[in-house]
Amino acid sequence: MSGAADLVGGSPPLHRPMKVTIGFTQSCNLDCRVCYADCTREPSPRELDGATWIGLLDQFFEAGVISVMIEGGEPLHRPEVLEVIAHAAPRAMTRLRTNATLVDDAMAARLKRIGLGDAMVDLLGATAATHDALTGVAGSFARSIAGIRALRRAGLPVTVLVIMNRLNHGELQPLLELAHAEGAEAVGVLRPYPLGRMRRDWAELSLSLDAMMAAIAALAPPAGLRLMQSWHPNDANCCWQMAAVNAYGRSIGCMYLREYVDYGDVTTMPFLQTWEDPLYRRLREGKVEASCGGCASTQGTHGGCRSTAFAFHGRWEAPDPFDAGLNGGVDLRVLPDAGGTPGAA
Ligand code: SF4
Ligand code: SF4
Repeated sequence: MSGAADLVGGSPPLHRPMKVTIGFTQSCNLDCRVCYADCTREPSPRELDGATWIGLLDQFFEAGVISVMIEGGEPLHRPEVLEVIAHAAPRAMTRLRTNATLVDDAMAARLKRIGLGDAMVDLLGATAATHDALTGVAGSFARSIAGIRALRRAGLPVTVLVIMNRLNHGELQPLLELAHAEGAEAVGVLRPYPLGRMRRDWAELSLSLDAMMAAIAALAPPAGLRLMQSWHPNDANCCWQMAAVNAYGRSIGCMYLREYVDYGDVTTMPFLQTWEDPLYRRLREGKVEASCGGCASTQGTHGGCRSTAFAFHGRWEAPDPFDAGLNGGVDLRVLPDAGGTPGAA
């Protein structure tokens, strides 16, 4: 590991979070091979209830949070999430990440009425064959498309998200065209993270960085569709502003850190106490072993994502191997045994 004197970048950590992600549940009606939450069909009785989430959200609003992302699992699999959205929406930009299979016209109209800002809908391919093979549930593609249509009929903006992997990287362009035809404003092509079931199936589903870069470079988004992607230099180190709480009330900084950190139980201590955890402060400071011009040009932060840096190198300040300029010869198809061990340096 590098000594602190060798590190580059960094800035004084924020005193308060700006954005929070709520991992509302680790349950879902689908069985995706890429699921980072390793969802179960039934929610655990240990998951926080709606009233507890509302109390926690009030702590965040008091601290100045302006953006709330609600994800899971599948949040709509636990209908109490509607109370939480209704509480959050008048107080902050409130977004929902969903597979949309549980959204019909009545649900979409209700989401619109309670003030949801927009919906981010996961599709895992441009065809039912690919998507359903990855979700493990026949008919799920048709239901997600029906959900997107209901959301659009209700006037809700939709962003389609796709986690790139070996089974779907050849149909990203048709996916852009499908999303555009269904009225989505944007498509986010997301890198895979070695978490949950995606970690279990990494050897079968992961791609080399070159293959992922080539798939991205080949994309030609239809006019009017915004393309987002989470590879360098379009995705920076955003630990400096993030807060996240999992379904059991643990403060974890970011949902992509879900298997690596635990800053404390926000049902027994104020959130801001967990915000001062030494590792949380260290990640927010953003010092890294290596950076490049591209990193700094996005948000003025350095080194890329800390989750994948830690997963592959086992060091919090290591270079992010998903960044082309910082990859350093790491084969992203091979997860190192030593990487991503909680408690590592
Ligand atoms: S839809 Fe999302 S939450 Fe549900 S199993 Fe798939 S990845 Fe997990
Ligand atoms: S772990 Fe990665 S995605 Fe999460 S806040 Fe940090 S840099 Fe951003």
